[in-house]
Amino acid sequence: MLKGLNAIVTGSTSGIGLGIANVLASKGANLVINGFGDAAAIEAERANLEAKYGVKVVYSGADISKPSDVKAMVELCVSSFGSVDILVNNAGIQYTESVENFPAERWDAIIAINLSGIFHAIQAALPHMKAKGFGRIINIASVHGLIGSTHKVAYVAAKHGVVGMSKVVALETAGTGVTCNTICPGWVHTPLVQKQIEAKAAEQGISIEQATEDLLIAKQPSKQFATPEQMGELAAFLSSEAAAQMTGIAIPVDGGWTAQ
Ligand code: NAD
Repeated sequence: MLKGLNAIVTGSTSGIGLGIANVLASKGANLVINGFGDAAAIEAERANLEAKYGVKVVYSGADISKPSDVKAMVELCVSSFGSVDILVNNAGIQYTESVENFPAERWDAIIAINLSGIFHAIQAALPHMKAKGFGRIINIASVHGLIGSTHKVAYVAAKHGVVGMSKVVALETAGTGVTCNTICPGWVHTPLVQKQIEAKAAEQGISIEQATEDLLIAKQPSKQFATPEQMGELAAFLSSEAAAQMTGIAIPVDGGWTAQ
């Protein structure tokens, strides 16, 4: 389905990004993987993706908070494979605290990685996509790009920004063969969410199991986590010809969270 296409998935050493990388590779796309972690574990992931799916995979250690790193990551994709056809902007961080007590440096870091990094990646990739007359930009925002929750001021601001940015990119690229859409996951069980579950368990003196159940019940009507693989399948669909006229939209994958 994606044979011959070349994709970048930021933040693909863990969680949702790792799931998306696996699904895109399974459908034939060559990959630039990115993210932090143990060097040997990242090399094992890279080699495993190549061996399992018969595609080419290179690793970029770009820090998405640094514009020059982001530009170099896009250029690595073009120099390695000849084009950048699919750009999945997934890398992201979280920090929870009330507005009054939110540390300014945490605000700056979340805006730099979850919002500005996406702008810099799109800006670097667009000329290549336009020259080819094909491109798929897929931004991983969140239900928090559509609605708010307490204690997540920087995250909610950044994710709403991503949804807005995607609309502008969609309008400016309409009719060029390039599309830009946003996926808005609800709860997905990844290390990012596990940290929130552990904090909740410690704060309330309850078990991890109870904290997990409470987290789901509070927000997600299905009471089930969405999975990284489901995000990958949606990203693959948005990369396909069937989605050529879908652009500028934000798609919740949230077990009914935003239907409430
Ligand atoms: P995760 O913590 O499991 O993975 C985050 C990835 O981003 C890792 O690979 C990490 O190394 C990378 N990363 C972090 N900072 C980086 C930086 N400066 N430069 C490059 N890479 C960096 O988190 P996840 O849950 O898989 O989240 C992935 C995305 O999905 C994030 O944008 C997150 O906001 C979004 N999201 C997650 C959920 C959820 O429930 N897990 C829900 C909605 C949206």
